[in-house]
Amino acid sequence: MTQPIESPCTDFIRDIIEEGQRLGKHEGRVATRFPPEPNGYIHIGHAKSVCLNFGIARQYQGTCNLRMDDTDPLGESMEYVESIIRDIRWLGFDWENRLFYASDYFEKIYSFAVELIKKGEAYVCSLSADEIREHRGTFTQPGKESPYRNRPVEENLDLFARMRQGEFEDGAHVLRAKIDMAAPNIVMRDPIIYRIKREPHYRTGNSWVIYPMYDFAHCLSDALEGITHSICTLEFENNRPLYDWIVERLIEGPRPQQIEFARLNLSYTVLSKRRLIELVQKNYVQGWDDPRMPTVTGMRRRGFTPEAIRQFCAAIGVAKNDNLIDVSLLEHCVRDDLNDRAPRAMCVLRPLRVVIDNYPEGQLEQFECANHPQRPEMGIREIPFSRVLYIEHDDFMENPPKKYHRLGPGREVRLRNAYVIKCESMVQDEKTGEVAELHCTYDPHTRNAPPADGRKVQGVIHWVAAGQCVDAEVRLYDRLFSIEDPGSEEDFTKYLNPDSVEILTTCYAELTLKNAEPGSKYQFERLGYFCFDEKDSKAGKPVFNRIVPLRDSWAKIAKD
Ligand code: ATP
Ligand code: MG
Repeated sequence: MTQPIESPCTDFIRDIIEEGQRLGKHEGRVATRFPPEPNGYIHIGHAKSVCLNFGIARQYQGTCNLRMDDTDPLGESMEYVESIIRDIRWLGFDWENRLFYASDYFEKIYSFAVELIKKGEAYVCSLSADEIREHRGTFTQPGKESPYRNRPVEENLDLFARMRQGEFEDGAHVLRAKIDMAAPNIVMRDPIIYRIKREPHYRTGNSWVIYPMYDFAHCLSDALEGITHSICTLEFENNRPLYDWIVERLIEGPRPQQIEFARLNLSYTVLSKRRLIELVQKNYVQGWDDPRMPTVTGMRRRGFTPEAIRQFCAAIGVAKNDNLIDVSLLEHCVRDDLNDRAPRAMCVLRPLRVVIDNYPEGQLEQFECANHPQRPEMGIREIPFSRVLYIEHDDFMENPPKKYHRLGPGREVRLRNAYVIKCESMVQDEKTGEVAELHCTYDPHTRNAPPADGRKVQGVIHWVAAGQCVDAEVRLYDRLFSIEDPGSEEDFTKYLNPDSVEILTTCYAELTLKNAEPGSKYQFERLGYFCFDEKDSKAGKPVFNRIVPLRDSWAKIAKD
């Protein structure tokens, strides 16, 4: 299933591009951009847009710019810029020397606004925000014209210049495009294009106290960069006539063609930046890189791979209607990629001590294990075996049902890559009565061989040798929300899954994991895929995050 990043895709956007190329539009050139506002970390929805924009540029030998749409000083920061750069690089995309900032165009955009005023197509309006809203009308009723709509050009120029000089308080005046207060599309009812905002900007500092509105800056930035296809999400469909109106008046030559697609919604998660910020700021999660977050940084820390994320984005394609994608498809892509690439290892999460009574004390054997069952080129490693071992607590049952193929009193099981053992007796905790230790015997003739007498041993369990293993912490993650569509709930934090993480602090991992590299990923046999957590691991106590369990609910859905 894993497809290389280069493989071409088809979808309605690419159809439009190819049709345009046949008609000779934009001289056959393809120039896209990914335009995030640096007011948060990017998430899987943004990754979809990144894959789409950069993927299209690659497919049609075009270019894709990275542009920070940083026109609203509130909430924007260099930290976010840096994170966006890091995350898109990690996803596998490159903008060469085309990193741009809308804030670099502020002077240019200001002069465009002045030009509109001079043409009599913009005016300074001195109504309050509430009054402007009241004047706007509704879907069924036309708006009312502002009493300031017919201010003379000279007065507008003067007021606008003084807005820039900082003479007025926030909200005292705004600059509006003079379009049509009766337009059926409310976006066209004299939209605000500049406002006063006495707020320092993370790049321009205190140079500006007026800032262009997103709608004004965005379309002009695209045009200034020579973007041919402005790909954006559906909520901007109504803004398209406004963008055309603005660019038509201010830019010569060919205009960017806007194409809208449905934003990604993912089940059991939220993808609105506002909500992700809330999760972080109110400490519902441990930060933007919390492995439960749908952010790129969170997914990276969890152990998702860029290949899997790109594969997911290719698999969901682009649609014209909003839909909710099952998160198990994303998990499936991750599993699919890791199954191929992750070396196998053994780790016991809830240890139960096992003593092999007939195994010589002090003896240590080294067993060779394949790192990957289907890929001999990934090599082998040696695993120590000794008299005292650990197995999973739930691989033993005191009163097992008939079909239980693991350990029980008098029962046999195979230790993965090692011997068949038989449970002879158990030791119970005096206070709790819980099983604290098993005493077993091993069959020395079963090392990598079936029992000589032909008896069947069906179960195979994982294990590690006591004293020859690594103390580890393992974190098991589940979905962050317990309902399918938390994004549609106003009070979405009510639906946080209280069991979204389980922390196991006394786990034993095989010795080879002592030197696990930051970010390295493994399949812990029978348990799932795990990633070494660089941030929280300590010398002698590595932390592993479970990326996904082995069970693939998507494969099951797809089969049914
Ligand atoms: P906001 O709600 O603050 O506007 P945003 O998620 O739209 O947040 P932007 O930084 O404006 O954030 O997004 C950058 C780009 O990513 C935009 O072109 C936007 O259309 C796209 N994008 C954002 N969310 C999604 C999503 N869920 N699916 C696909 N594309 C998305
Ligand atoms: Mg946006």
